Amino acid sequence: MPGPTRVFIAKQIVTMNASMPIATHIAVREGRILGVGGAEMLDAFGPATRDDRFGGGIIVPGFVEGHGHAVDGLMWRNVYAGYFPRTAPDGTRHSGLQTIADVIARLRQAEAAMPDPDQPLIAWGFDPIYFDGPRMTAADLDAVSARRMIVVGHVSGHILNVNSVVMAHAGFSADSNLQGLVRDAAGALTGELQGPAVMGRASRVTGDAGLLRSLDVPALRDFAAMTRRVGVTTCTDLANALTDDNVAALRAATAEPDFPLRLVPAMRAREYSVPEGLARIADLKRHNTDRLRFGIVKLVVDGSIQGFTARLRWPGYHNGAPNGLWYVAPAELGAFVAAYHAAGIQLHIHTNGDEASELTVDMIGHALAAHPRPDHRHTLQHCQMADEAIFRRMRALGMCVNLFANHIYYWGEQHRTLTMGPARAARLDACAAALAAGIPLAIHSDTPVTPVDPLFTMWCAVNRVTAAGNVLGARERITPYQALRAVTLDAAYTLHLDHAVGSLDVGKFADFAVLDQNPLAVEPMAIHDIKVHATVSGGEVFEN
Ligand SMILES: [Zn+2]
Repeated sequence: MPGPTRVFIAKQIVTMNASMPIATHIAVREGRILGVGGAEMLDAFGPATRDDRFGGGIIVPGFVEGHGHAVDGLMWRNVYAGYFPRTAPDGTRHSGLQTIADVIARLRQAEAAMPDPDQPLIAWGFDPIYFDGPRMTAADLDAVSARRMIVVGHVSGHILNVNSVVMAHAGFSADSNLQGLVRDAAGALTGELQGPAVMGRASRVTGDAGLLRSLDVPALRDFAAMTRRVGVTTCTDLANALTDDNVAALRAATAEPDFPLRLVPAMRAREYSVPEGLARIADLKRHNTDRLRFGIVKLVVDGSIQGFTARLRWPGYHNGAPNGLWYVAPAELGAFVAAYHAAGIQLHIHTNGDEASELTVDMIGHALAAHPRPDHRHTLQHCQMADEAIFRRMRALGMCVNLFANHIYYWGEQHRTLTMGPARAARLDACAAALAAGIPLAIHSDTPVTPVDPLFTMWCAVNRVTAAGNVLGARERITPYQALRAVTLDAAYTLHLDHAVGSLDVGKFADFAVLDQNPLAVEPMAIHDIKVHATVSGGEVFEN
């Protein structure tokens, strides 16, 4: 006996399915799509329940966030110190902080409310590129507390500021020789820590309360609540150590009957030796379900452009800052790429600067020469400064790209004036160039780096408008249809999931978002004003 059939009716259904691009009725059975079309869907499959609660709405495929991080669900247990206002999982709107003094004031307020003097004070979302004048130092944080450990994470996720107590516990001193300890003109440590080596050491001394805390089920529920609210039905967790604790939380949360999200965790390759990593993936894949899919691997090659830690080709940073950091030595990167590629694993590789992208494309080329492999879909993540030549090589090698379109709004002005200068900033997150080269394109938020909201990400790629209201690189704008593909079907393609999600077609999961307006029909500048009424995940309705 087949399960019951429900037919959802909408004003219009945008399917992203080429053989039936526009519809009004969608029939769902057993969590999957049975048919998409017109009124004939009502009786095409036997008796059906007619559901017209979305009769005035627009249905699109559930959005696929190809680059997000589930730690976003944990961040809100810390103090928000970001420049832009931001909404917490419970819907609370937190104001943005426009000066260092505002940041310090919020830290003082939080510090005063903490009863246990040994509990570290952790803040996140700090974005000093927006502040003129001197950088925040350990002395500024010591003035908040000289006794309590204080850690302020930058919004990029690639830099921390800490106070003197943390530096003492971590064993950092003026004569430390570690990469990533920032010094002032006199050679003294400033309390700014760049890159995984020194950040990891600081986070370990702050213990379980640090920014490297393990995932738990409530955090994953919070993460799912945030993503569901903006229409996402499939989301990556694109850098997970996949410790036993994290895996247990992922399995428990996604097994809850009302969990509204399909999660795709990527294993942080450098947590393991290659043989251990391969064994870990093989073991975890046996636990894959419809809502939890292990199997992809993440590598991080450089830092962030706005933190001046990305690796750039000549002529380097526009403001003269020194070139950024290799997070993995080039030879070691080659060894990881070759081994995982040869084992048939798909790689998602973070490259922000163009030197990092070019080096990684070289490595993929070497790996493919040694082990030809069709349909690998290795994906460069961010790949923000790639030019046409890099995109053409990626196309020739069968690679995909997931560009960081939200950057255009949040840091576009800083890229024009400080990091890239006016010429190169025009090709930041060059969506049109990637499509012209024929590369499968996704676009992303990198939440918690910027808030997850695929309609906003679409708006960024379509309009390329910065926070100051200027257009950055008008020739790299893409159409609303291209942008919708980049947050649905083509984002699914970069995860080898386009057979299951990303469009509304027979046999796929019944995952969709219900909007109040059609993103392909509104004025392009109005795309980010579209409201999400509900998501449907595996046929289950979650109304906002
Ligand atoms: Zn990321």
